[in-house]
Amino acid sequence: MSRPKVQPPFAPKHLADFPTGTCDVAAHLVETLASWRTATPRVDVNQCTGCLRCYLVCPEGTVSKIENNRVSIDYDFCKGCGICSHECKFDAITMIDGGTA
Ligand code: SF4
Ligand code: SF4
Repeated sequence: MSRPKVQPPFAPKHLADFPTGTCDVAAHLVETLASWRTATPRVDVNQCTGCLRCYLVCPEGTVSKIENNRVSIDYDFCKGCGICSHECKFDAITMIDGGTA
């Protein structure tokens, strides 16, 4: 249930080294993404049931499970897309205006 490890940026030396498809190596976070976030998800731990739907749908892999079946968001990498909030069936994630966690 651990989130992807941050990897140092990969600098291709040859054409064949460039990734195809997605721009990053799959499942690896390479740099912080939070600087351009315009909305920030907040988890209400009292509403959260620990269903982990947000963990499954977050495209950035920034949601992780913590103690007592609750979830935590790594704001260094959250883009503020709002998918987790939209998909939470228990209204436990609210998107707050602004990029500050
Ligand atoms: S989807 Fe909602 S209820 Fe489920 S773990 Fe995430 S925040 Fe908690
Ligand atoms: S707002 Fe988007 S990037 Fe941030 S935790 Fe939710 S799904 Fe992941």
